[in-house]
Amino acid sequence: MNYIHHALIGVGTASLGIAAAEALGLPQLSLTTLGVGALVLGSGSIATDLDHPKSFISNSIPSGVIRLALAILVIPVLAGLAALLTTQDFQGTWAGFAGLIFGVDFLRWAFIALGVSIGLMLVSWLLYKSLHHRGPLHSLYFTLGVTTVACMVFWWAWLPWTWGLAFGWGWLWHILADGLTEQGVPFFWPFNDKREHTLPPSPSKITAPVVGPKPKIIVDGMYGIGDNLHQRAAVRELMKTHEVWLITCHAAIWHDMIKQGLHLHRKTTRLRTQAKILEREKDTFPDEPLPVGANTIKIWYKKEAIDKYGSIAGTLMSECGVFGKTIDFSMPVPRLWLDQAQELINKWKPKKPLLIYRPIVRRKEWNG
Ligand SMILES: [Zn+2]
Repeated sequence: MNYIHHALIGVGTASLGIAAAEALGLPQLSLTTLGVGALVLGSGSIATDLDHPKSFISNSIPSGVIRLALAILVIPVLAGLAALLTTQDFQGTWAGFAGLIFGVDFLRWAFIALGVSIGLMLVSWLLYKSLHHRGPLHSLYFTLGVTTVACMVFWWAWLPWTWGLAFGWGWLWHILADGLTEQGVPFFWPFNDKREHTLPPSPSKITAPVVGPKPKIIVDGMYGIGDNLHQRAAVRELMKTHEVWLITCHAAIWHDMIKQGLHLHRKTTRLRTQAKILEREKDTFPDEPLPVGANTIKIWYKKEAIDKYGSIAGTLMSECGVFGKTIDFSMPVPRLWLDQAQELINKWKPKKPLLIYRPIVRRKEWNG
């Protein structure tokens, strides 16, 4: 949250209050009062971050003012230096210099602004070092103190003391707004240093209680490579609620999900391609025994079901009882395949963008 948000929140809440008061028939405030009030309130809502040396109030404003003040003061300072060098009269030069600075209105203000800005930066640095950001300055107790002091300062300056309340209002809404963020603020300092939140955490952020192990389920899958790819969507969804054992003849297709806890159980077959794959993966296939007593879903699809669910993947989702969830059968490309593709690219040195298509099976008769 930056200073603009804070100022807007402070002024916004006050405007609502004023609108409500007017609606209730209270006398209208003059435009000047509203303008000055908004300025005072806005200052209150950005002053809270004085405990951070990089904030708007501790850095952006003072460094801007310092630059401006130095630009104004540089001519009298140079003139003073020149006078000192030529006359060697320190006291006389100083008297002349001070008379000039404090005699001319805008020079005096530039000098005061310079001092105040340097002071602000120093105070901020000290606050940050001693109290740290979002420390005591962001507490309700401090807000009360600051409001009281602000009221007294306005009163001493023969200004309406109620402007101190506006300053305090800005400060209060600053810490309330910071309390909405994840880090929170120490509202109850010095009684309690713990960082609190303005609102109780939303239910979605409360971590669900651990409900024990997920129920086990066996999915008796299909043979085909394409079918296994489509099955990925259903199995991915099922794994969110179950510990899944999949009966399949393919391991590589499941490489990423195995790492996420999917168990594979080898499905043997005499089908030509599947048998070849089984033979090739016989050492790497993580064949696991099926759990005893777990329910088994046997997945299959027929034309009527595809017509009904709109796609093969949709049908497989419905077979697994997860129809309606996102159908995501995407698969990350393994490093090895990327390296092989890179080798080809290096060899071809293409001038145009290239699409690499790796057929799921490679047969001699398909080499075009
Ligand atoms: Zn803050």
